[in-house]
Amino acid sequence: MGDPKGFLKTARELPRRRPVDVRLTDWREVYEPFAAERVERQAARCMDCGIPFCHNGCPLGNLIPEWNDLVYKADWAAAADRLHATNNFPEFTGRLCPAPCEAACVLGINAEPVTIKQVEVEIIDRAWADGGVVPMPPATRSGLSVAVVGSGPAGLAAAQQLTRAGHAVTVFERDDAPGGLLRYGIPEFKMEKSHLDRRLSQMSAEGTVFSCGVAVESAAQLAGFSAVVLAGGARVARDLPVPGRSLSGIHQAMEYLPQGNRHASALLRGVEGGTSPRSAGGGDPAESPPISAAGKHVVIIGGGDTGADCLGTAHRQGAASVTQLEIMPKPPRSRSAGQPWPTYPMIYRVASAHEEGGERVYAVSTEELLGDEAGAVRALRLTEVAMEGGRFTPVAGSAREIPCELVLLAMGFTGAERPGLLEDLGVEFDARGNVARSASFETSEPGVFVAGDMGRGQSLIVWAIAEGRSAAAAVDQHLRALPRPALPVAIAPTERPLA
Ligand SMILES: Cc1cc2nc3c(=O)[nH]c(=O)nc-3n(C[C@H](O)[C@H](O)[C@H](O)COP(=O)(O)OP(=O)(O)OC[C@H]3O[C@@H](n4cnc5c(N)ncnc54)[C@H](O)[C@@H]3O)c2cc1C
Ligand code: SF4
Repeated sequence: MGDPKGFLKTARELPRRRPVDVRLTDWREVYEPFAAERVERQAARCMDCGIPFCHNGCPLGNLIPEWNDLVYKADWAAAADRLHATNNFPEFTGRLCPAPCEAACVLGINAEPVTIKQVEVEIIDRAWADGGVVPMPPATRSGLSVAVVGSGPAGLAAAQQLTRAGHAVTVFERDDAPGGLLRYGIPEFKMEKSHLDRRLSQMSAEGTVFSCGVAVESAAQLAGFSAVVLAGGARVARDLPVPGRSLSGIHQAMEYLPQGNRHASALLRGVEGGTSPRSAGGGDPAESPPISAAGKHVVIIGGGDTGADCLGTAHRQGAASVTQLEIMPKPPRSRSAGQPWPTYPMIYRVASAHEEGGERVYAVSTEELLGDEAGAVRALRLTEVAMEGGRFTPVAGSAREIPCELVLLAMGFTGAERPGLLEDLGVEFDARGNVARSASFETSEPGVFVAGDMGRGQSLIVWAIAEGRSAAAAVDQHLRALPRPALPVAIAPTERPLA
């Protein structure tokens, strides 16, 4: 522990967000740089607890007090080594993780927790800038091959672990570029895709092969591989079965966001290269995306992170107004008694997108979508709801209309896509509709493993990376017939957040 009184002397501090009117014009990440000395002071707030509850809060088991101490001592290279010991992609989690570790930080019992996530991202950004992140190809090859289906964080983590263990790994991805939701769900203003591309270059240099634009639809396409990791995500979106759903102008978030992300990527690459390139993962910056919020009154149904990503995207596209609807009541500003430390509490949070405008409306349910003569949506009729007998019940006399020309559905995902590969493989599903797996991430089909949202259900990037690492350990053990895993295991398939 570097400074035993650090937490008494220094208050929690985060980097500032760039002014709203500036960041809405450029799609770039919202945060301003944070000076190294300030990060070192923040790291010194860590108390190096005897029992570091933050370890349990982080699904990856990141060695948080160790790297906090190294940062305090300005030994940034050693800190990056300790960070990479448990996390393949800290630049993703450091930007995008909701930081359950901070909710579990002991300092958070009676003060502001350590800025763990910020320290994490500063360590890895500095490591990249200093040339400390280099390809780590295996010293020997096993002669065995693994197919990874899906290139989201789970597939990428599994692929990197297995490649480094000496196996010949091919990642199949049906999109034109790898990344899964990191590329086509999460917008540039939360994580610029250059961070993803840089990591993919490292993986390619290590020997991982990416086969993009290839949808694996049958078991026959995987013949010849020694093992398979399914990491196709949970992409079946929850729908809204109300009158008017078939009107034009109503889209799932994951129909809207990928187009917006392609357009934003093309704009950023155009700015960086001084050209207007059409490249993998990008479109033509001169063309508006086919679904655009420009000039429209927009309603987003769903108050979660996906909804917030739609909100920030709509504002950057020039929406006339944005209203975000949520069926749940407004959460409290601080922990409720039912969600004590060290759980991750449901509290009122203000994401960067919420700062940028729009209205958040709570405890409402959509009754009907109303159209114009051309069959396009013109308004949404909602009613306020209250919880009665365990059900949301309309409040009498509270129905009203909101004018809108674009409605985005961001109500979560129900599970993996079954037609095609999963049905052809014949894998079994669990009671929640996810691909069932054993304690070693193996599906009902021998030699076929599953990781990430496809096996866990809709989750978080940090869980996907933990799943990918753990499934890789199981695959390696299976391939080499080892008595126990040789690669690190972060979690069991059944592990869930502390509730
Ligand atoms: C809009 C949005 C924003 C989010 N923001 C955050 C956030 O800020 N922080 C956070 O922690 N989590 C966030 N999440 C959740 C997080 O992105 C997911 O939990 C995570 O990406 C799951 O990773 P995965 O690898 O399991 O699947 P995915 O990222 O979904 O990747 C699966 C990949 O598999 C490919 N694929 C599927 N089937 C096939 C096939 N048959 N052949 C070839 N390829 C196939 C898909 O094209 C896709 O690229 C967000 C989710 C969404 C939808
Ligand atoms: S990955 Fe998430 S939970 Fe783990 S240390 Fe980083 S911010 Fe915290």
